[in-house]
Amino acid sequence: MTAAKELLTALGVPPAAYGQGTITARSPIDGTTLGQVADAGAEGMNTAIAHAHAAFLAWREVPAPRRGELVRLFGEELRAHKSHLAALVTLEAGKITSEGLGEVQEMIDICDFAVGLSRQLHGLTIASERPGHRMMEQWHPLGVVGVISAFNFPVAVWAWNAALALVCGDSVVWKPSEKTPLTALATQALFERAVQRFGKEAPPHLSQVCNGGAATGAALVAHPQVALVSATGSTRMGRAVGPQVAARFGRCLLELGGNNAIIVAPSADLDLAVRGIVFGAWGTAGQRCTTTRRVIAHHSIHDALVERLERARASLKIGDPRQPGVLVGPLIDHAAFEAMQQALAQAREQGGHVAGGARVLGSTDPEAYYVQPALVQMPGQTAVVCQETFAPILYTLRYETLDEAIALQNAVPQGLSSAIFSNDLREAEAFLSATGSDCGIANVNIGTSGAEIGGAFGGEKETGGGRESGSDAWKNYMRRATNTVNYSRSLPLAQGVQFDV
Ligand code: NAD
Repeated sequence: MTAAKELLTALGVPPAAYGQGTITARSPIDGTTLGQVADAGAEGMNTAIAHAHAAFLAWREVPAPRRGELVRLFGEELRAHKSHLAALVTLEAGKITSEGLGEVQEMIDICDFAVGLSRQLHGLTIASERPGHRMMEQWHPLGVVGVISAFNFPVAVWAWNAALALVCGDSVVWKPSEKTPLTALATQALFERAVQRFGKEAPPHLSQVCNGGAATGAALVAHPQVALVSATGSTRMGRAVGPQVAARFGRCLLELGGNNAIIVAPSADLDLAVRGIVFGAWGTAGQRCTTTRRVIAHHSIHDALVERLERARASLKIGDPRQPGVLVGPLIDHAAFEAMQQALAQAREQGGHVAGGARVLGSTDPEAYYVQPALVQMPGQTAVVCQETFAPILYTLRYETLDEAIALQNAVPQGLSSAIFSNDLREAEAFLSATGSDCGIANVNIGTSGAEIGGAFGGEKETGGGRESGSDAWKNYMRRATNTVNYSRSLPLAQGVQFDV
């Protein structure tokens, strides 16, 4: 509690904000209570959305490069408070120190990206078929953007959305994970500092946070004034959210679960492959959407690879994520631990050979859930391998031909991230081609996790189809208008239609 209070104070969050309420913020590091936070509920959410809509009407009139200036100032606040916010991420989400810092760096990176973007929100000019006519498209601010985020990227996911939404002229309402309400309060406090420095052009309530659980999130999803719902979390959540937004013809951006595979070909540099797999599978205690959950190894190198992975697995230091040298922190909570144990039991039943997976440090930290990462050799891609278990479990499978490997890689319901380790150009290009990986992210000789913000991020199938962050993902946060201007003295109709009166 003391550490959290010191960090929250440094980040500008008053103690009253986490002194009472029905949401208990706990540290997965040792299970201690960090604070109590109020649940906004449906009523609080509806009020916030009404305020956000008023803010949108004002903010859309501010020129985009000026909007970029606010995001630039926010980026400065993040730079100045990077270590504090990162330490709070570690405390509340259990990430090791360098990953907590990396998460805040990702927020800074997207702010920089968005500032540049604020001068590049351009449409096309299009050749008109009619004489004396000009056709063009414009991108206009969209409205209120609702952001629902997951516990495992408690602040970066919001930043990916908010930095773009703000330069695009939208207002933002954020429903963070109920497991990480404090990092959300801290991020909001930093944003408000940036607004103070920016001055009166920024309307009140431009970006707000409404803490709460699924019911509070559901109020955001249902509200007709929320033009875009950007929801990150499990496929289960997406199945509830997607149809509701569609039913009111709202726009939805879904970033859901993954079941990411790495194919290791006979020509692979095994040193690189082992490093990529170890970080991807067991870093962040297996709690990334892009975590490597499957290795599909050529039969000729499978055993050698597994041996090296097993050596690396057994050497990973598990424990308090703030300690130097620790690479695997805690699972988020007891439910995550139970889900991992169930998956391992199923893997055994389905013919798997399991190494690791046991709870550790239970006697010193009875309220925390530290586990040995697990390496599971499977006889085939059974039911348990096809599901996402949000824990450090890596399944290994064998293949004979590249076609077989790609078919295995694609034969799961999710479609987020994928990679091949190969030094054979033909194999690598085949993997990236239209008949290769069916994922939103496909890499060569790097792992599945740790994407940069410059690319569009997201995946296909049960991952939800959304794209956020870099490339042209900003278009999700704007509405497109096609404009035709007639500067001639006649009115020709398109397609040569005659309608003379
Ligand atoms: P979760 O689905 O339990 O919760 C995510 C968020 O959705 C929370 O804020 C929760 O309160 C909210 N929510 C749940 N049900 C809702 C409903 N019916 N209506 C509105 N809101 C609702 O996920 P989690 O355990 O916090 O996170 C882990 C999951 O998130 C994994 O499946 C992981 O793969 C996924 N994830 C995906 C990405 C991505 O970019 N694809 C990134 C991070 C996490």
